[in-house]
Amino acid sequence: MAEAAASAASGKVVIRNVGLLLSGDIDQPILDADTLVVRDGRIAAVGRASDCDVTDPDLVVDARGTTLAPGLIDSHVHPVFGDWTPRQGQLGWIDSTLHGGVTTMISAGEVHLPGRPKDIVGLKALAITAQRAFDNFRPGGVKVLAGAPVIEKGMTEDDFADLAKAGVKLLGEVGLGSVKGGTEAKAMVAWARKHGIQSTIHTGGPSIPGSGLIDKDVVLEADADVIGHINGGHTALPEKHVCELCERSARAIEIVHNGNERIAIAAAKAAIELKCPHRVILGTDGPAGSGVQPLGILRMIAFLAGVAGVPAELVFCFATGNTARMRNLDCGLIEVGRAADFVFMDRAQHSAGRTLLESVGLGDIPGVGMVMIDGVVRCGRSRNTPPATEIPVVVPAGH
Ligand SMILES: [Zn+2]
Repeated sequence: MAEAAASAASGKVVIRNVGLLLSGDIDQPILDADTLVVRDGRIAAVGRASDCDVTDPDLVVDARGTTLAPGLIDSHVHPVFGDWTPRQGQLGWIDSTLHGGVTTMISAGEVHLPGRPKDIVGLKALAITAQRAFDNFRPGGVKVLAGAPVIEKGMTEDDFADLAKAGVKLLGEVGLGSVKGGTEAKAMVAWARKHGIQSTIHTGGPSIPGSGLIDKDVVLEADADVIGHINGGHTALPEKHVCELCERSARAIEIVHNGNERIAIAAAKAAIELKCPHRVILGTDGPAGSGVQPLGILRMIAFLAGVAGVPAELVFCFATGNTARMRNLDCGLIEVGRAADFVFMDRAQHSAGRTLLESVGLGDIPGVGMVMIDGVVRCGRSRNTPPATEIPVVVPAGH
């Protein structure tokens, strides 16, 4: 079921009995707190129950000892319009992803639109329309940051200025259009940056017939803000080149579900060895040839924890606070003033792990028990994850 955007809940929400509070902050991933207070859709207090003003709430959620984390952020999706994707002919994929704990998605280009315009005025019009359409309509309540033009040969600085003035804040993956050379890409990325537009670059071999190879030298020269799908989408660069990108660039290291899993592990390990885990962000790169993955971000978390051996509490930061900081979002961290976008999770029933973090460390995905966006409960027990052992409940008024 898709529904129109409700603005933030007005009033006061108290969340109590949080068993484990994951902050999204890679420098301090676990907070010593069990209570959150939300006012008008934003976090107003975080702490122990005795330290928070929990009086006169409009809504109380008893977390029943479950884990609360910032809503997950998918750094790399390809939406088109509404909750429809033509890529595999699916409806409801964004609402379904809400049930995978995702509360924000970032477009890497609306490239799947049938008949997508490639002339400059057309691509600008599409980007502005997509930005407006998703700003006005949130499928399932999910924040879809869209309007990411795919740059083409012949664009000038004025085009980037026009886009910025019209509210466009992102570029689609550099390399999906006719701009594939490092020098040309570098100039356009710099124009975009000058006008406040964030950029991402396709990394690796062609995704589908019609797209092309972007090698490490082009990625380094273009210097986009995000090294998009560093593990390929699907075909990855040689491992040595991926490690070189981690080392020689200071930009975001984006690892995606629809990429090469072996190289995903190599990139995560390189970032940790280079002492820059704060640069790692996660995406699905869906919808794509390998479909739609409502649980894609949770699967990446369990994969990097269970197979690459990254501590689970850090991997959650890859999918929340790291992305929020890299992309200047007001969500993704449990901090006063941030958007009240939360996912409540518990160990999946019958996981071999005794706690949520242990189960994720063993490679199991958690069960989602509730998702909240801007302080509004958007779903209860997930219809897509394995069932959570315990789930939060909304407490009836007066209790
Ligand atoms: Zn790509």
